[in-house]
Amino acid sequence: MRERPRSAAAFARAQRSIPGGVNSPARAFGAVGGQPLFIARGDGPYLYDLDGQRYLDYVGSWGPLILGHCHPAVVEAVTVALHNGSTFGAPCELETELAEMVVAAFPSIEMVRFVSSGTEAAMSAIRLARGFTGRSTIIKFAGCYHGHVDALLVAAGSSATTHGVPSSPGVPAGCTQDTLVLEYNDCQALRDVFRQRGDEIAAVIVEPVAGNMGLVEPTAEFRQELRRLTLHYGAVLIYDEVMTGFRLAYGGAQELYDEAADLTILGKILGGGFPVGAYGGRRDIMRQVMPAGPVFQAGTLSGNPVAMAAGIATLRQLQLHPPYRYLETLGRELQHGLQRALDAAHIPGHVQRVGSMWTLFFTHQPVTNYTTARQADTQRFARFFWEMMDRGIYLPCSQFEAAFLSAAMTPEHIHQTLDAAQQALQALRP
Ligand SMILES: *Cc1c(COP(=O)(O)O)cnc(C)c1O
Repeated sequence: MRERPRSAAAFARAQRSIPGGVNSPARAFGAVGGQPLFIARGDGPYLYDLDGQRYLDYVGSWGPLILGHCHPAVVEAVTVALHNGSTFGAPCELETELAEMVVAAFPSIEMVRFVSSGTEAAMSAIRLARGFTGRSTIIKFAGCYHGHVDALLVAAGSSATTHGVPSSPGVPAGCTQDTLVLEYNDCQALRDVFRQRGDEIAAVIVEPVAGNMGLVEPTAEFRQELRRLTLHYGAVLIYDEVMTGFRLAYGGAQELYDEAADLTILGKILGGGFPVGAYGGRRDIMRQVMPAGPVFQAGTLSGNPVAMAAGIATLRQLQLHPPYRYLETLGRELQHGLQRALDAAHIPGHVQRVGSMWTLFFTHQPVTNYTTARQADTQRFARFFWEMMDRGIYLPCSQFEAAFLSAAMTPEHIHQTLDAAQQALQALRP
């Protein structure tokens, strides 16, 4: 492993005043050992660390940067907005402009409310679904992440229905007792739960393509059963498209699969690198949000003009120059090349991908849910991760995360990545 003395010093300093030295645990490299890079700057597809090394960035700030770092149109829009004042605590037209763009992008979203993170959006959507239905129970799926909302901080990896057991100290059992956890892609469990307690279920929340246990695709049957059962029992179907929205297609997974959720949660790309989340959906549900309706939700910096400007500029670029076909082509080449490299090195593994989201799982079997994801060889992943880092490729620092392509990447970058991966996997050979 290469020495990175300036990052090491910066990390030591940060640890004295910030718990663990980071402001979000995914950044701490805990799952791969070693210490995080401290970043000096980003430019297009690249990150530069404090030690002056350049890396091809497959993290993209964990999803937002589909255009890469410092896209000129985003920089320009943010600069203009900033000079007009950073926050007003009063409405401005940039909010309506971005809201109209969201409504136009997602046929299932008739109205939308902006907040400041995906977590806040998920929390608000759950409250709204409960307020709208007058029911309490929510269903989530093991391995899906919806931000650090108390009621959703339940991972339980069993395939049986489990009453939520909090996965963090500080979350009282009362907060998760109405959360049921099912296995992703398990249609029978879903049918059983609805048959037993369908009239208690306020909402089902799902990542329509899961990215937070590594990349896992939903089966067509799973998607259809989610829609059919929630309609039949009057539960709110919440698609968490914080990661997939504007990434798998401009209209997210719902466009890709031609589906409609009742409520949709957005974030990441929507803010163009700034803190923006949103929840939106059916007008009759959204009209319950205060002050139109009785369900409370508020935010001092919600709809922040600088963040709105970044989001508008990002979405406009995605409309003017849709990158989705291009990213699919790059992604396919990367996926097939990585799979060949695995096979050539006789290392068991599966490269799973939808569009520009992908994960190389070190597993014998394809991954379909949290249980099969957890069978991955995480030690082998950690070695692969560092071999790639030392070759200038910055991957997510955990087996259970999706990597992202950006529109700033070229076929040449894919070739460089595949060369690095071939060498890295050869170095890993048993
Ligand atoms: C990142 C993410 C969140 C949380 O968003 P934050 O802005 O980090 O709070 C929620 N859901 C999904 C699917 C995500 O990927």
